[in-house]
Amino acid sequence: MRKMRRKGLASMASQTVVTTPDTVDLGPAAGLSCRECGERFALGPIFACEICFGPLEVAYDFPSGDPEGLRKRIENGPENIWRYAPLLPVPADVASKPNLNPGWTKLVQADNLARELGVEPGKLHVKDDSGNPTHSFKDRVVAQAIEAARAFGFTTLSCSSTGNLAGAVGAAAARAGFRSCVFIPHDLEQGKVVMAAVYGGELVGIEGNYDDVNRFCSELIGDPAGEGWGFVNVNLRPYYGEGSKTLAYEICEQLGWRIPDQIVIPIASGSQLTKIDKGIQELIKLGLVEDRPYKIFGAQAEGCSPVSVAFKAGHDVVRPQKPDTIAKSLAIGNPADGPYVLDICRRTGGAVEDVTDEQIVDAIKLLARTEGIFTETAGGTTLGVAKKLIEAGAIDPSLTTVVINTGDGLKTLDAVAPTAGMSAVIRPNLDSFREAGLA
Ligand SMILES: *Cc1c(COP(=O)(O)O)cnc(C)c1O
Ligand SMILES: [Zn+2]
Repeated sequence: MRKMRRKGLASMASQTVVTTPDTVDLGPAAGLSCRECGERFALGPIFACEICFGPLEVAYDFPSGDPEGLRKRIENGPENIWRYAPLLPVPADVASKPNLNPGWTKLVQADNLARELGVEPGKLHVKDDSGNPTHSFKDRVVAQAIEAARAFGFTTLSCSSTGNLAGAVGAAAARAGFRSCVFIPHDLEQGKVVMAAVYGGELVGIEGNYDDVNRFCSELIGDPAGEGWGFVNVNLRPYYGEGSKTLAYEICEQLGWRIPDQIVIPIASGSQLTKIDKGIQELIKLGLVEDRPYKIFGAQAEGCSPVSVAFKAGHDVVRPQKPDTIAKSLAIGNPADGPYVLDICRRTGGAVEDVTDEQIVDAIKLLARTEGIFTETAGGTTLGVAKKLIEAGAIDPSLTTVVINTGDGLKTLDAVAPTAGMSAVIRPNLDSFREAGLA
């Protein structure tokens, strides 16, 4: 299996071109660079370094000088991720193209939750990304990948998904006029399956877990059957990942152009966490925020905790696991960005922690009860970890903390259905109401 994946990577890498064709306009994106050896490549549908097989990421020519002008431009931009178009791998006229325009979701000051957790009032915030068009943060990343797919001439959009990505790709493809064919583990929650299928694209269940799905997609990319296909999180992964930077941009802007002291982020592949850090670093370099210390914390479910286990053991490598947890959107046993997550959490003085399925359910209900936000199991994982780290003293309750809610509880109803039902069923009269003890 491992050998086959390498073969797929090598055949992709051989498609590398030296200069970016003139037809490719991805705004400030200047090329791709290897995260391991720094080698530069032209913009194209490649994701692994030809020399060392390291992952590629987008490198930029950013506007320099005038941070005040850039800030004004952003503030006057649309109320979606395209306000940050000058910092993303997208053409300048991106907002006028057909897409779902995700982002600019609410940053909720969670004072009731803060009180319960012993955090100073005004210091705890929930970045609520369930407010995106397909109710998860995945709309942000797909919106970037679609622009890359247009630029490279792909006609079919695809992905390997733990659920939310499949829905985000299906919806964005429908709006933008692409064909879509997406792959998921066959045993996902009904909410995720229906949501991914309803947009009319092809939805294929694979008999296996996410890591099997991902391996299959890598094989498909190296095969003629996958020609003309843009896999948003595989051969378009460098562009896809950049969408998560917008979470960092929005959080800082919504806090008055200020970096929060502590951020708690869920980990599946680890892409989101690493790109939030990249986004903060860019804001510092561009002079849009003051350079100050911040800590990044990663959250996993105990039933799929390869990064958390490595963090606690002091390891630099992540040993793959077989996932078994209700947090299915985070159930990636072999996370591609795991080692980079470890670097970032250690460098910033943060941590990676995990919680049990029971703690995940408790946290879902805690957030709903205190702030009126219904999160999916991934959000329960993130809040559960935040609570655990506050109690352990690793998160300082006197400092500003942002907890990211990446998805919507309506997609994972089964997690709470056994403990969230009707208080009573009564006849339609007052006696019956009184008898039930509800008066
Ligand atoms: C995909 C996903 C994540 C995290 O994904 P990464 O692969 O780590 O970027 C978090 N929450 C939800 C709800 C997701 O769907
Ligand atoms: Zn390299």
